[in-house]
Amino acid sequence: MTIDIDCFISILEKEIVDYQVPVVDLIAVQTNDPYRILVATILSARTRDEVTAKAAARLFGEAPDPAALAGLSRERIELLIRPVGFFRNKGAYLADLPGVLQRDFSGRIPDTVEELCRLPGVGRKTANLVVAVAFKKPAICVDTHVHRIMNIWRYVKTDTPLATETALRRKLPKIYWLKINSILVAFGQGTCKPRHPHCDRCVLNDRCPKIGVLPRRIPGREAGGASHRQTVSRKITG
Ligand code: SF4
Repeated sequence: MTIDIDCFISILEKEIVDYQVPVVDLIAVQTNDPYRILVATILSARTRDEVTAKAAARLFGEAPDPAALAGLSRERIELLIRPVGFFRNKGAYLADLPGVLQRDFSGRIPDTVEELCRLPGVGRKTANLVVAVAFKKPAICVDTHVHRIMNIWRYVKTDTPLATETALRRKLPKIYWLKINSILVAFGQGTCKPRHPHCDRCVLNDRCPKIGVLPRRIPGREAGGASHRQTVSRKITG
């Protein structure tokens, strides 16, 4: 079963209009500021969007730009951003960030994946997201939702996010590169959830190959009828 990616994305673009906007996209729309988009992306790793949004607001209240961030101690940054996941590591990264920006990039936020990966706490996923969201340059940010859902659809058959990024660079039409992350993060948080995808109310239910997704019985109901079924996904390695 081969999916029609144009059809799937078209359906999802309409579907997610009322979904919660991923926090990084929200900050991008509100500020259009590469510094804030970069910092919010660093904060968002392994952290729920609501927590990221509040931590980012507290931090930007005291550090609206790299110069102000340079004036904060690592301890103060940690205090402002907790309870985001790995707040001590992220506090250290953010404390180092202004110095590295000044030393290597004359104080500007770089706009290529390779340059961004030289910043503390920035890996390929973060770099791709910043390039796409902040600079609107062709980049595909493959996070856990993009990797997982693209494999459920069997649009790619890959074991790691990096392999998914490589496969999508070959296969996914460029018109979707900038927006695929936003669409699938919103969809992955709202409907195609990692542990319990809501196939029963999914707009793609009749078209999706559901690779690795198993039907499960709703507690207290008998198995059998289609209305009695929901699904749960198997873990995709990588
Ligand atoms: S049908 Fe299920 S597995 Fe497929 S996209 Fe929808 S929620 Fe995800």
